[in-house]
Amino acid sequence: MSNGVFMMPLGLWHSDITQQGYFLVGKLLGRHTFNFEAFKTTMLNSFNRRGMDFRLIEEGRILFRFNHSLDRRKVMEGGPWALDKNLLVLRQIEENDNPAHIDLSWTDFYIHVHDLPLSRMMKEIATFIGNQLGIFCDVDLNRGGQGWGSSLRIRIGIYITKPLRRIMKLCTTMGEESVISFSYERLPNFCYWCGKLGHIMKFCDCQYEDGFDESQEQLPFGP
Ligand SMILES: [Zn+2]
Repeated sequence: MSNGVFMMPLGLWHSDITQQGYFLVGKLLGRHTFNFEAFKTTMLNSFNRRGMDFRLIEEGRILFRFNHSLDRRKVMEGGPWALDKNLLVLRQIEENDNPAHIDLSWTDFYIHVHDLPLSRMMKEIATFIGNQLGIFCDVDLNRGGQGWGSSLRIRIGIYITKPLRRIMKLCTTMGEESVISFSYERLPNFCYWCGKLGHIMKFCDCQYEDGFDESQEQLPFGP
């Protein structure tokens, strides 16, 4: 050792003995304490095909290990997942990542964009809209590169710290305004007051700051 740096034997760090498996790291949102054994049973029933395992690590994070990459992919593509309607934030990690350091402030959702003309259902438009809402991942298009239906289905990384968006006003270069709306697939618990994922209205801290009015009949968000 010199200057507090420890010399590792040559080749040890890069040896061929690596973790076997395909990994995800996740965290269950909500204020409740959860029963990890019950959680494991539910997840095994939902996900297990070729073998999987779990470990509870620090700060309530859960490390998932799959024997087969296809199982991991099915879990990611089949999400978002929830337990008792509480969102399970899930992110894919690789062997060289440390699960404690992965940003769990966003997770993937499928969103339907409504009120778009068929001619505007294309990848470039989907990418623009997706990146306004969060992090664009993918869009369902036909082989000709066009959306084909009444809505455009986009996969987006949504920040759990930001309110969900219901509509968006688009100003085109021609100066025309157009309003599009969104619906979310498999939406778990979220707050009808502040629109954020991870808590329900009775646990919302924003109500104390925003001047909550008990007589207000119309909430800013709804099912
Ligand atoms: Zn809230």
